Amino acid sequence: MSEIQRKKTRSIMVGSVGIGGDFPVSVQSMTTTNTEKLAPLLEEIDRLEAADCHIIRITIPNVKAAQNIPAIRKHTNVPIVADIHFNHQLALMAIDAGIDKIRINPGNIGSDEKVKEVLTKARAAKVPIRVGINSGSLEESLLKKYGHPTPEAMLESAEKHIRICQENDYHDLAFSLKSSNTYLMIEANRLFSQKYNYPLHLGVTEAGPVKQGTIKSAIGIGTLLAEGIGDTIRVSLTGDPVEEVRVGYAILKALNLVHRGINIVSCPTCGRTVADVVKIAEEVEKRTAQMKKNLTIAVMGCIVNGPGEAREADIGIACGNKTAQLFKKGQVIDKIPEEQILDRLIEEIENL
Ligand code: SF4
Repeated sequence: MSEIQRKKTRSIMVGSVGIGGDFPVSVQSMTTTNTEKLAPLLEEIDRLEAADCHIIRITIPNVKAAQNIPAIRKHTNVPIVADIHFNHQLALMAIDAGIDKIRINPGNIGSDEKVKEVLTKARAAKVPIRVGINSGSLEESLLKKYGHPTPEAMLESAEKHIRICQENDYHDLAFSLKSSNTYLMIEANRLFSQKYNYPLHLGVTEAGPVKQGTIKSAIGIGTLLAEGIGDTIRVSLTGDPVEEVRVGYAILKALNLVHRGINIVSCPTCGRTVADVVKIAEEVEKRTAQMKKNLTIAVMGCIVNGPGEAREADIGIACGNKTAQLFKKGQVIDKIPEEQILDRLIEEIENL
């Protein structure tokens, strides 16, 4: 099978999760509750952990939120990233509190002394930093120089932070170059990847509600991953962060970058369809949603393309006239009457 050749970047460790190098592409998300209020935040973290989110980012906008970091850190084994803007004191507090990574732009935290203080403490504590370049918040000087956000302007902004970090002998970095404009995001990451070896966090920012955001993310993140670019991903949706994790995995699965969970191959149906394939596929998706197995399941509507797909799957059905052929690991193991297709298929899946 043809496989994606991933670019080998430097690696960083975010708690127990590696990003870059030979580490698999990880899936991140960000909590949406107020970090000052611990109970709902921990509940959200639990839901993300249950969805197998590899890394969870929380916003740290003030001291009260930063004071909750030790309790958050104690509550979960999932690495936690503090999202901090401008305020170097909060970055120092987060490092002292045992945070696993900080998302901050060193060029935006003020005087050279403040930058030095943060980078020195982060280096000593082995806390990596993600520099997040966003096309919506580029420096005024770059907007003047380039007229509007361009891939080159985003690259130049990233380079400014690289210089500052290098001057302070800090190298434990990851970068993201995000935009709500999918193609701009793709081009900026391509440019960065051609020039630098730092691990890349991919995301289309402010991608929109679930449906639109899923499409934009799949195109933006998926295009880059298919080219071997990208080490960790965050799908950004206006909705439940657990959905971001599901979509993140779906993107990785579509590119064979992860072999986890249920992969359903189902036909779009057509005039040949002889059973209620739509209902069967939807029910299979619903009933297998919580399963932790690694399985490809084929639900096919006729005997033209059905047997071929069902044979390649771990388990599958190819519907025929009032019956369906049931395939398991490439072999037909039974013929099932139409009214029993769904229950029998689920039973076989559960037994696998
Ligand atoms: S598998 Fe058969 S029923 Fe399904 S879309 Fe293809 S030809 Fe139509």
